[in-house]
Amino acid sequence: MLSPLRASVASLVRSYSSCAKQLAVCIVGSGPAGFYTAHQLLKLYGEDVKIDILDRLPTPFGLVRTGVAPDHEDTKNVTNQFTRIAQDPRVNFFGNVNVGRDITLDEIRKLYNAVVLAYGAESDRKLNIPGENSHGVHAAREFVWWYNGHPDQRDLPVDLSRVESVAVCGIGNVALDCARILLRPVSELASTDIARHALKQLQHSKVRQVQLCARRGPVQAACTAKELKELVSMPSIAVHAQPSQLAVSEADQAQMKATRLKRRIYELISNAAVAEKPGASRDLFFQFYRNPAEIIADADNQVQAIRVEKTQLVADPVRGTVAVGTGEYEEYPVQLVLKSIGYKSLPLPGVPFDDRQGVVPNAAGRVLTGVGAAADSTVPGLYVCGWLKRGPTGIIGTNLTDAEETVASMAQDYAMISQAPTAAAGGAGLQQLLQSRSVAVVDYAAWEQLNAHEVNQGQQQGSVRVKCAAWDELLRAAGMALPHVQAM
Ligand code: NAP
Repeated sequence: MLSPLRASVASLVRSYSSCAKQLAVCIVGSGPAGFYTAHQLLKLYGEDVKIDILDRLPTPFGLVRTGVAPDHEDTKNVTNQFTRIAQDPRVNFFGNVNVGRDITLDEIRKLYNAVVLAYGAESDRKLNIPGENSHGVHAAREFVWWYNGHPDQRDLPVDLSRVESVAVCGIGNVALDCARILLRPVSELASTDIARHALKQLQHSKVRQVQLCARRGPVQAACTAKELKELVSMPSIAVHAQPSQLAVSEADQAQMKATRLKRRIYELISNAAVAEKPGASRDLFFQFYRNPAEIIADADNQVQAIRVEKTQLVADPVRGTVAVGTGEYEEYPVQLVLKSIGYKSLPLPGVPFDDRQGVVPNAAGRVLTGVGAAADSTVPGLYVCGWLKRGPTGIIGTNLTDAEETVASMAQDYAMISQAPTAAAGGAGLQQLLQSRSVAVVDYAAWEQLNAHEVNQGQQQGSVRVKCAAWDELLRAAGMALPHVQAM
């Protein structure tokens, strides 16, 4: 049975064939949301669409390259599908193009029938507590980008040879990724595509324990069972949780009865906390009902400890089960703090942005003219997909359903967007504009050259790939003729 959304897209495909006119669509962002949007558009319009996918990085695939943990190689297989899409003659990749710096959104909108914003979430929620800006306090996103070779975090000031204890705030899957990478035996990472600078640091790491601080209890943990099981069942990691923090209330019991996943997560943690692991050399402490209250730093502003407030849960009619402070505090000595409390999208000049939710306001993927009461209509030809549309939640596959919805909205708007008076030049116009500004565009062939270089380096060093992790290194490997590269 087709879902209602798929059925409606299928019927649009049938009705569309009678009014064919080639559409030029630009997608800003080449992560899963961008590629799934392209996939849906190709399915819907066949030969009658041309798609240009822009990315500010020289590399495609967004979060699959810079977010998915290096030891989750299977998850990255989705790039095979994205590669087939990128190699389709109807699709062009424009890497190393920064919308807002190299070209404005207004300029792009003039070249295309429709523009889909799918540039994800490149910032972070803040804790807003004293000491948050101390040295050694980082957003989990920055740490993830660092170990995944994102060029913007190549030089993240991390020195794991001076760190024994780490606090990770939050208990979503990103927090588990960070804890696992820090605690996993480094020999198990060497053959992955982890950034070489991160691998070197991990080889000299003194990290022996991670305090995973969750403001609510085990039943409210945001992570998923598969990822949790992977972490707590690692033989090298001893898992600890205080029995008092594993006590369950009647409300918890009701939640576990209603949702199998919650019960499973609770069982995984409580079983792991009593499991004997004679070979364990590292410790993972679950700290439930502990809300970060202050980061304590030394005279050099280097983090020394995290202070957490004990919490209790109360039922809020609007917000559900919320943690409220009890006025009692605890401190854990730590030399590194990773804030894994959620990503946040960044606004793009000229596009309405809901700063509280961190999303572009939209109706089924159509960008609205404002936020809340200020939204009286939609912006013609402007769409949104992925984390920028719905917030930073969901797995890679969630973006497929999300893209289906956005493309269904585009299909319903076909009559309007196909008549866009100024649209015509599409990719040729874009190319011309970028050339006139001397933007070093990394097209798909250049990315293939960079990709081959990385894989080749990996073969020589016994790993999946050796990522280029600095901007100049990336551009050089992509064959870009940069003035300072030529001079070398
Ligand atoms: P997440 O799942 O939303 O988890 C955020 C965590 O931060 C929650 O534990 C939340 O606690 C806590 N938090 C939020 N605000 C806080 C505050 N002010 N103070 C203290 N704690 C706070 O986010 P994520 O881990 O960044 O993951 C993002 C998405 O990517 C998720 O959908 C995740 O499943 C997905 N992902 C999947 C994988 C995978 O499948 N392997 C890997 C990585 C990421 P409360 O619940 O109390 O708000």
